Amino acid sequence: MKDCNCIFCKIANGEIPSTTLYEDDDFRVILDMGPATRGHALLLPREHYANLFELDDALAGRALVTAKRVAARMKEALGADGFNLVQNNGEAAGQTVMHFHIHLIPRYENDQAGILWTPGSTTPEEMEEIRRLVVEN
Ligand code: AMP
Ligand code: ZN
Repeated sequence: MKDCNCIFCKIANGEIPSTTLYEDDDFRVILDMGPATRGHALLLPREHYANLFELDDALAGRALVTAKRVAARMKEALGADGFNLVQNNGEAAGQTVMHFHIHLIPRYENDQAGILWTPGSTTPEEMEEIRRLVVEN
């Protein structure tokens, strides 16, 4: 399941050193080398999955539980005021490393990290069309 050309496989399995905040049989949590804020970390599965849709349900569940626990510890230790979990799938969504990961991003009052979006607009007709596509097909 390991992909030899994948940098996150190498980091997750300890072949490339990283600053590790947590590890267990399934995951390693490392500090991001281009942090959005102080303490920005990444949860990486040890096995290679390109994105969320390749994870089996059990591992996906453990990923969120692990992210929650590590985030709680980081929030307390770093004195963060808030916390974002971010998880990108596909180039169009901003994914640059094709090995599933969850970003753990501590937030601080006025930190200026640009990871929120400007709200757009929609119509009742569009909302109904989307509902129909997702629910009825
Ligand atoms: P994404 O855009 O969701 O694919 O996020 C990839 C993240 O991985 C970015 O935040 C990068 O800064 C981070 N990154 C890439 N290579 C490394 C590395 N060797 N060590 C730590 N973080 C990395
Ligand atoms: Zn990989």
